[in-house]
Amino acid sequence: MPNNDKCLCEPTEILIFPCSGGSNVGQITNAVAIELTKHGKDKMYCLAGIGAHENALIESTKTAKRIIAIDGCPVKCARKTLEHAGFDVNTHIVVTELGITKSHELDVNDEDIKVVVEHLE
Ligand code: SF4
Repeated sequence: MPNNDKCLCEPTEILIFPCSGGSNVGQITNAVAIELTKHGKDKMYCLAGIGAHENALIESTKTAKRIIAIDGCPVKCARKTLEHAGFDVNTHIVVTELGITKSHELDVNDEDIKVVVEHLE
């Protein structure tokens, strides 16, 4: 049943934006965002839509309680995309800064996902 007492202007969710890049560390960001969304605390959201300046996605992001950007490497595409659209990033992590080396293999292992998830919890 909908909660009609809730002000729709209030920020509602913690949104996670992974860079989802074409490398192991980029794909780790994607896997981490999925994992956190499945845990139910946060919600994976669409970085590409922000980059495309899609109005509906921009407006939804404005209602976020917090914005988390997860980047695979120091190029920081997720953070830069959000900032170019005018958003302040509340939490930002870079996977390579957690001791995981970037490669162009797309295999992602559970241990690396766990390291990043634990860093965010
Ligand atoms: S931050 Fe690094 S891994 Fe992620 S999309 Fe940009 S270049 Fe690729």
